[in-house]
Amino acid sequence: MELDKRGLDLHGVRCPLCDDDLETVDHSLIFCKHVIDVWDRVYKWWNMDSFFNYSIIEICGTPVSNTNSMSKFGKKIWQEVNWIGLYLIWKKQNAKVFRNKCWNTPVALNEIQAKMFEWISARAKGKSIDWLTWLSNPSIYLSLF
Ligand SMILES: [Zn+2]
Repeated sequence: MELDKRGLDLHGVRCPLCDDDLETVDHSLIFCKHVIDVWDRVYKWWNMDSFFNYSIIEICGTPVSNTNSMSKFGKKIWQEVNWIGLYLIWKKQNAKVFRNKCWNTPVALNEIQAKMFEWISARAKGKSIDWLTWLSNPSIYLSLF
């Protein structure tokens, strides 16, 4: 929609994943039925409240869900989980649009889990993050450290 507003000649302005709505930033990265299924799985994996009422601005700006019980490092992790999720969803959509790669929600979640682990482990600076705990109960890291 943003490119269309700026006069670029596009083939269409509907979501390339679902074709149910216009391809806005909020739709593409949050509310598309395929994407919202990924977010729902990510939030359940983290044992967090659903994010369905948040916009892209809220997800990018401050950590969503209740962060009161989180440590300083935990809040940082949770914010990065949201940012990494947005980045990876955007990347997977581009793979679908430009290289015709299939969108597969369970595979998307697995890739997000692995990439988040890689990124957050690298930023943990000496703090140990265990892969199996990461997969089964990652929210434990929100109050540790
Ligand atoms: Zn869509």
